[in-house]
Order: sequence, then structure tokens, then C-alpha cells
Amino acid sequence: MSPKVLPTIALPSGEKVPQLGQGTWRMGESRRSFETEVAALRLGLDLGMTLIDTAELYAEGGAEEVVAEAIKGRRDECFIVSKVKPENSTRSGTIAACERSLKRLKTDRIDLYLLHWRGRPRLEETLAGFEALLAKGAIRYFGVSNFDVDDMEELFALPGGNACASNQVVYNLTRRGIEYALLPWSRAHGVPIMAYSPIEQGRLGRNRALSAIAARHEATPAQIALAFVLHQTDMMVIPKAADERHVRENHAALGIALTEADLAELDRAFPPPTRRRPLELL
Ligand code: NAP
Repeated sequence: MSPKVLPTIALPSGEKVPQLGQGTWRMGESRRSFETEVAALRLGLDLGMTLIDTAELYAEGGAEEVVAEAIKGRRDECFIVSKVKPENSTRSGTIAACERSLKRLKTDRIDLYLLHWRGRPRLEETLAGFEALLAKGAIRYFGVSNFDVDDMEELFALPGGNACASNQVVYNLTRRGIEYALLPWSRAHGVPIMAYSPIEQGRLGRNRALSAIAARHEATPAQIALAFVLHQTDMMVIPKAADERHVRENHAALGIALTEADLAELDRAFPPPTRRRPLELL
């Protein structure tokens, strides 16, 4: 049985958001799939997956338009995450990009606004943009994405940088690199991780190494991949699913309790990192 009320993650402010949310990369790319994508996101909202991750990058704003339609009439239930492209991340560029995103999202605020990855503009510039947006209520929190430990240390050394509400990075069974240094650093500094590509863009759904554990739990390999990430109970997880069956399966993964034996088997098939490596990007 899946829980009716989703487990939550506390942001540094103390505000709680659902641990399991929904991604939107590859949504909004064609008119033909628009309604299907909207329906999938709405089903996810009905199931309590009210954290939705999007970005100005995705389908050049098209994904934000899908999100706008999905959250119509229910904005207050949702926690919307969007991102500024690195090339827009000067002070004025960040403010202008956010205003364009707000228009596409048909809302007056983005709950969490992230720098998508580090670009040329100095971090001070982006921070100044975030601060201006916070001051006028256009965003409620700011955060980053694809930041490794050295990037986080640089951010935290800047005035106001330690108000960062989250770092969104890749994390799944085949990409466990953050367990070595970034995850411990983030825990020590109280910055919750938001795990992207938790099913390795669908590839873990076809991974044979997961079949036996999946069979034991009467689950699918994709659900085991998700259960593994959800097992880190201080991490937000944002699988993308445009297929309603996938949305239901992903929600049901919350009900899977991996045993110590399962986790040991997963460690053998997908070994944890034994040394520090640069953060991977997808
Ligand atoms: P993902 O969530 O690991 O995988 C999505 C793919 O898996 C889709 O093809 C989806 O198919 C399929 N899928 C979903 N649920 C499934 C299930 N239960 N069984 C089998 N297949 C399933 O990959 P992702 O989209 O790369 O990552 C998730 C989100 O993270 C993105 O959408 C985006 O919002 C964010 N992201 C952020 C960054 C960044 O740089 N910050 C980078 C990558 C992703 P259907 O769509 O057909 O259901």
C-alpha cells in the first residue's frame, strides 16, 4: 500500500515539501503530447506529488506552459521549482528570465528558483538577482543545480549564499558519486539534495540486475530504482513521467521498504563510490 500522505522533506526554512515530486524535462516539445502530459502531472498532483520541477530550458519554455495548464485552479497546492539558464544568470538577466517564466507558468511566484548549472556570470551576480526576486516576492526560495562541493563552498563564502534552499543533482543507482563527498557536505550544511534522473532517464526500468529484487517486492525495476533513492529520507526525488501508468507506479514506490538484504544486493550490483570524482551532469 502506498501512503496517502506523502513523506516530507524540511527545507532550511522549516517549510515541508513532499519527498516525491514530478519532473518535466522533455515535456512541452509537441502540441500532440500536450494534453497527455498535463493529465499525467494532474494525476501526480491528485496523488500528492505536488512538487513540480521545470526550467526555462525545457522545450524553450514549453514545459513551463504544460505546468501552467496542469496547476490551473490549484496553484496553492503546488510547490513549483524552475531554473534560470546559466547564460541568463547575470543580475538583470536572472530577473528578466524569472519574469518570463512567471508569465509562462501563469503565476505570480516560483517557490524555488535554481541556477541550472554554473555559467560565465559570477555567482555574486546571480545571487543579487535572486535577492531582488526574493524582495519582490517573485520567488520564495533560491537554490542551485549541478553544484559540486567546491561550488557550494564558493557559494557559502558569499554574503547570503548560505540561504541556498536546495542543490538539484543527478542521483540514482548507476550514479552514486555524491555519496562520497557532496551528500555528506550537504547534510553537514543543511542543504537538502533534490535527486534528478532517479530512473536514469528510464534506463533503470530495463535493468536486469533489478529483476530479482523487483520480483520479491511484486514491483517493477523502475520502482526499485526509485525506492533506492527514496530510501535517503532527507532527499527530494523528481522522476518524470508522461505516462499515467508510470505516475501511479512511481507513487506506489513510496510503499516499498527495501530490506538490509536488498540494499546489500544493490550495493553489489551498483557499488557505492570509493573515491571522490567530479560531479556528473546529465
Ligand atoms: P528520469 O525521471 O530518471 O526518467 C524519465 C524517463 O523514465 C521517461 O522516459 C519516463 O517515461 C520513464 N519512466 C518514468 N517512470 C517510469 C516507470 N515507473 N517505469 C518505467 N519508466 C518510467 O529522468 P529525467 O527526466 O532526466 O529526470 C527527472 C527530472 O529531473 C527531469 O524531468 C527534470 O525535471 C529534472 N532534471 C534536471 C536536470 C538538471 O540539470 N537540473 C537534469 C536532468 C533532469 P514516460 O515519460 O513515458 O512516462
